[in-house]
Amino acid sequence: MTQYKIISLFFVSFFFQYSLLSQKSIENYEIHIDTVELKQHLYILASDSFQGRKTGEKGQFLAADYIQNQFQIMGLSKAPNMDSYFQNFKLIEKSKSGIMSLNGQTLNFLDDFGFYDHFETLRSVNNELIYISDFKKLSGQVDYSEKVLIMEVSSIKEVDLFKAKEIYAKAIVYILTKYDQRYFSSFNDDELYFPENKNKIPYLFISKSSLNKENQKKLAEFKSSNKSNEIFGSLDVFLNENPKYVETQNVVAYIEGSDSVLKKEIVVISAHYDHLGFKHEKIYNGADDNGSGTVALLELAQAFQQSKNENNNPKRSLLFLAFTGEEMGLYGSLYYVNNPIIPLRKTITDLNIDMIGRVTKPTEKDTFSVYIIGSDRLSLDLHNMNEKANKNYSHLKLDYTYNDPNDKLNLYYRSDHYNFAVNEVPSIFYFGGFHKDYHKETDTVDKINFDKIKQICNLVFHTTWMLGNMEERPKIIIH
Ligand SMILES: [Zn+2]
Repeated sequence: MTQYKIISLFFVSFFFQYSLLSQKSIENYEIHIDTVELKQHLYILASDSFQGRKTGEKGQFLAADYIQNQFQIMGLSKAPNMDSYFQNFKLIEKSKSGIMSLNGQTLNFLDDFGFYDHFETLRSVNNELIYISDFKKLSGQVDYSEKVLIMEVSSIKEVDLFKAKEIYAKAIVYILTKYDQRYFSSFNDDELYFPENKNKIPYLFISKSSLNKENQKKLAEFKSSNKSNEIFGSLDVFLNENPKYVETQNVVAYIEGSDSVLKKEIVVISAHYDHLGFKHEKIYNGADDNGSGTVALLELAQAFQQSKNENNNPKRSLLFLAFTGEEMGLYGSLYYVNNPIIPLRKTITDLNIDMIGRVTKPTEKDTFSVYIIGSDRLSLDLHNMNEKANKNYSHLKLDYTYNDPNDKLNLYYRSDHYNFAVNEVPSIFYFGGFHKDYHKETDTVDKINFDKIKQICNLVFHTTWMLGNMEERPKIIIH
């Protein structure tokens, strides 16, 4: 054996030991994700004293304080340029009464008309109405940004809200043949909305049966002669109440990366901590939705902070985001992407956890299962990395049922990762599955399987570790 060979053997064995060592140390941090602690946190956050953590109410503030205190105790930093762990912002309480005038006819809020989604820009409006028979009849030559469109549809089910979102108009008024005010009253139920939502336009619904003879006649005439893009008349809306603002907050913590260059990029790990609150004498504890994701976030933060304490943390920085306002419309994440603490172009991924605490399939007796949503929509690298982390470490059954773009439940649009995805940040939504207690007061902590939470945390942990250390960030594929 030559000396050269001896040297090369020395290097081989050195690298071999090094990789074993780093392997061992990853596992040393992973053990900080602990079912006893997951349980302790969740028994507090999903207890009655947190009153269902409704956005803008006492229980949500208590939960925000709890999460902040835990971040502090664990030793996580505040995010760069932040003087606290809170990212505060304001929401507006929806109006509960009002009137409108359609071509001079007075209509009453809820009895005759209702709102869907955001309507701040219509709080007080005086506008010309442009009739269209169909979205296909919109003209490419017309700037609709200051126009209110009016069209007739048979029921709310026929309204293509996803299509409507793409239309750049001031508002859309739908005349509904089958109008049911209960739909709008329950939607309106003391909720809050996001004031600076540029992505959404207001939709108004008017009951066709409430229209007076002149308006009925006019509508029939426009319809029969297909008068698309012509002026139908005028609309005035007055919502009576002065808007009331409510402050709420995301809770944010940070671990600076270990590489002087790559630390400028971040991996976001997120979970919403708000839930539905207290209504009809019942507390909606939201143990699974999303107490489970919130405690997972805390344990992940602790595990990674431990690696930081031992100077062995990932090269990229990590941002732990506990979102408020999710149940009311993904508001916390929407505020965040509109006001990111670290620029979104430096945000390589969002790994979002929502409802991972329940065993939801009979097959889970043997192996826990998790739904993976969105992983391949923007980046195959991200998808492959998550697969690899699972294969090498977590051994969960990955279920892509809800990732199908044709899936009727549209889960891809229904949690906070979506606000990152629309901004071209590759994202994964980890979801444990639906159960009969979903959005009911029976979503309680006694039904939670902490081993399942731990195993999904393990997958998020290893995916994050890989994302944090890989040379190249996940490449974006645009469809
Ligand atoms: Zn929910």
